[in-house]
Amino acid sequence: MKKKETQHCSFCLREKDEVNILIAGQEGHICENCIAQAQQLMEEELNQGQKKYKFSLQASMKPKAIKEYLDQYVIGQDEAKKILAVAVYNHYKRLNQKTQDDVEIEKSNIIMVGETGTGKTLLAKSIAKYLNVPFAIVDATVFTEAGYVGEDVESILSRLLQVCNYDINAAEKGIVYIDEIDKIARKTDNPSITRDVSGEGVQQALLKMLEGTEVLVPPQGGRKHPEQKMVKVNTQNILFICGGAFDGIDKIIARRTATHMIGFKHKENEIKTDKNNLLQYLSPQDLKGFGLIPELIGRLPVLAHLDPLDKHALREILTEPKNAIVKQYKQLFILEGIELQFESDVFDFIVEKAIDFKLGARGLRSICEALLTDAMFDLPSKTNVKEFTLTLDYAEEKFKTSKLNKLKVAS
Ligand code: ADP
Repeated sequence: MKKKETQHCSFCLREKDEVNILIAGQEGHICENCIAQAQQLMEEELNQGQKKYKFSLQASMKPKAIKEYLDQYVIGQDEAKKILAVAVYNHYKRLNQKTQDDVEIEKSNIIMVGETGTGKTLLAKSIAKYLNVPFAIVDATVFTEAGYVGEDVESILSRLLQVCNYDINAAEKGIVYIDEIDKIARKTDNPSITRDVSGEGVQQALLKMLEGTEVLVPPQGGRKHPEQKMVKVNTQNILFICGGAFDGIDKIIARRTATHMIGFKHKENEIKTDKNNLLQYLSPQDLKGFGLIPELIGRLPVLAHLDPLDKHALREILTEPKNAIVKQYKQLFILEGIELQFESDVFDFIVEKAIDFKLGARGLRSICEALLTDAMFDLPSKTNVKEFTLTLDYAEEKFKTSKLNKLKVAS
């Protein structure tokens, strides 16, 4: 029923004398009550938007689709991507499992081993982004056994709670990436008088959390706020991904694979080991040899290794991923109204320097920064420059005078 004759609110139809304020628009009016209601709706919607996480497995989220998504961001590491995709897929299938089923699927926490800067964190981050679940990165080196200087392992969950705005339901289905897990390896095999509070002690403390239990978490994290009210978080459905470089584990693998070979008499049975990438033969017993306790290894049943990045991979990392470094710099220049071009030799130059300086993938960005800083300093003040080409000569000259080069020359 429309009221046309008198002025009224077009939303609630209240007439002018029933309300205090009636604001006129092009073709209608709105009263103060409807404005207040609209504002409340808007706030609710925006707040929900902030912490809207999907938990249910979508039909499209098959392992293949997960891997294809990872391919857009991470170069190479096919084996690790496959293992991760299956583990994550199974994990979320387990979440959707009906409770009355007889067979209860166990959690598939993951451990990734690979040199630093090969993409471990990037993989974990990309997966969380794809699944749209809360994701927190924590560093295992800061933890100590309860009661000692350092952080309690419970603060891992504080970090996750903070990420999702203290939405406990969301946190309980999130992913946690524990970096540098190798740094909490048992320090020595000898039971000594001094307690290993940052090594084995932390591993013990992690066991329950990885397996799935209710943990009392200080929402602010740390031990600095002893008065804070604890929050109960169930870790049953939180997926833990651990990563570490495990420096020196190749020697343990080499020793094991060598001893296994001794028994073979027939040449055709001999397994040829690729000495350049021993990590591909990694087994849980090597992790034990490195100093992880068997109970912890048991709670990280999915084992993935990352390959070292060769020249070809570094070259691709520079230009191929969806947010590749080169694309990012081009975008920065576009925002300035300048088209940035790279001579293709420059890419090889950057890769060579990253390898020379043993900087790995992390070094690619520092080198690009060193080459482009002067241009990024000068060009914004020049109004008539519409394009800039980074030539090999220019790159060589800029690199020679860069801090990176000076550091190498000085050492
Ligand atoms: P880590 O293995 O030490 O966790 P990261 O995942 O943090 O290494 O990688 C550091 C940076 O190097 C990333 O932010 C990314 O830019 C780049 N990077 C490393 N490996 C890859 C890869 N395989 N594909 C694409 N980028 C990579």
